[in-house]
Amino acid sequence: MGAYDIIIIGGGVIGCSIAYHLSLFNRFKILLIERNGIAGGASGSCDGILSLLSKKGGIQLELAMESMLILDNLSKSFPLDVEFRKIPGMIIIEDERYIPFMEKFVSEQRRTTNLRIDFLSAKETRGLEPLLSDRVVGAVRSTDNGQINPIRLTYAFFESASSKGVEVRKGEEVLRIERIPSGFRVETSCGRYEAGLVVLSAGSWSPLLSESLCLNLPIKPRRGQIIVTEPIERALNHTVLSSKYIVAKYNVETGKGEGLALEQTHHGNFLIGATREFVGYDRRVTSSALKRLAKTAVEAFPFLKELRVVRSFAGLRPWTPDGLPIIDIIDGLILACGHEGDGICLSAITGKLVSELVLYGRASFDISSLSLKRFKTSSAL
Ligand SMILES: Cc1cc2nc3c(=O)[nH]c(=O)nc-3n(C[C@H](O)[C@H](O)[C@H](O)COP(=O)(O)OP(=O)(O)OC[C@H]3O[C@@H](n4cnc5c(N)ncnc54)[C@H](O)[C@@H]3O)c2cc1C
Repeated sequence: MGAYDIIIIGGGVIGCSIAYHLSLFNRFKILLIERNGIAGGASGSCDGILSLLSKKGGIQLELAMESMLILDNLSKSFPLDVEFRKIPGMIIIEDERYIPFMEKFVSEQRRTTNLRIDFLSAKETRGLEPLLSDRVVGAVRSTDNGQINPIRLTYAFFESASSKGVEVRKGEEVLRIERIPSGFRVETSCGRYEAGLVVLSAGSWSPLLSESLCLNLPIKPRRGQIIVTEPIERALNHTVLSSKYIVAKYNVETGKGEGLALEQTHHGNFLIGATREFVGYDRRVTSSALKRLAKTAVEAFPFLKELRVVRSFAGLRPWTPDGLPIIDIIDGLILACGHEGDGICLSAITGKLVSELVLYGRASFDISSLSLKRFKTSSAL
């Protein structure tokens, strides 16, 4: 049995960012446990859009803006190229019915932050993105936006953390977490470990582990399917979302719906997404959804019809009822989960906030709105 100061559960972008940020202090004995490989969960099955435009005004957008600054700096210092670049973001408006919704969404962003946002007419939109179809009625645009390779980012956090002494057990599944007088005992498929603090950053699987501590986390896996095309020369000037995508993202009544998320990667492939579905832990793609995604994308960008599809995949977003992550500390148990479709963007700030909670017992942002107790269902089982 090994003894540690901190055990981190989950080797996705959140667990690895936390490991990295904690390792900077050179004063903790840290163990990270991942049951598969690094980035084997949502962090390896997603887009890499660092979208500020898609964040709700208030704490979510404020954290995303801060995270973007950190990622910009880190991308220059990581030995691994994480393919970070600043690229404007656009939310295209497919139908006039969505204009009032987008106006309200943007006015809240403007009220709470200084994010640079422009409303564009149909003509202005096509002037900036000439390959768009003429069906689009306008767009919201921001130059404060970016793109990153999510798998490389997760590995960059992971490799930097291990080079600073963080121990890692891959292919080892945490089965149970138990409170003991000195902190926690963590039982895995290979052994037992003890630590004063445990960080639960197991994405969509976090509620399965919190049960052993009689803690009910209101997180559900929300599947997202994505199509990958062959690479071509750079054709887009923006990362593109649609207003239907924003409506679906924040649809708290049913949690369902889908819109367009489109990015051209560093290597020229297009990632066309994404569905939002509650189907348990099923990570399969479905032909009906892939057809719908392709149709929506071609309606917006007809040139995509000419491209060959090279693969498709699905990932599980850790959904919470209000769309915000849970970042909290409860008697030595640190919760850093529930980042839904924003975990890549929010990874850096989450790592920073958790390291502050560990070191000082409080964070540099007011994160009370991210606490577990905001949910009525969060009580002990
Ligand atoms: C289709 C899609 C598109 C997306 N696009 C974007 C985007 O453009 N921008 C953005 O910011 N975000 C995006 N996201 C969201 C982002 O991918 C997630 O928010 C983020 O990856 C969550 O990271 P995580 O570390 O919390 O979870 P995960 O990456 O899922 O990591 C959790 C890890 O915990 C491990 N684990 C689980 N149970 C155990 C156990 N018992 N023992 C040990 N290990 C365990 C898992 O194996 C997994 O590796 C997208 C997601 C999807 C699905």
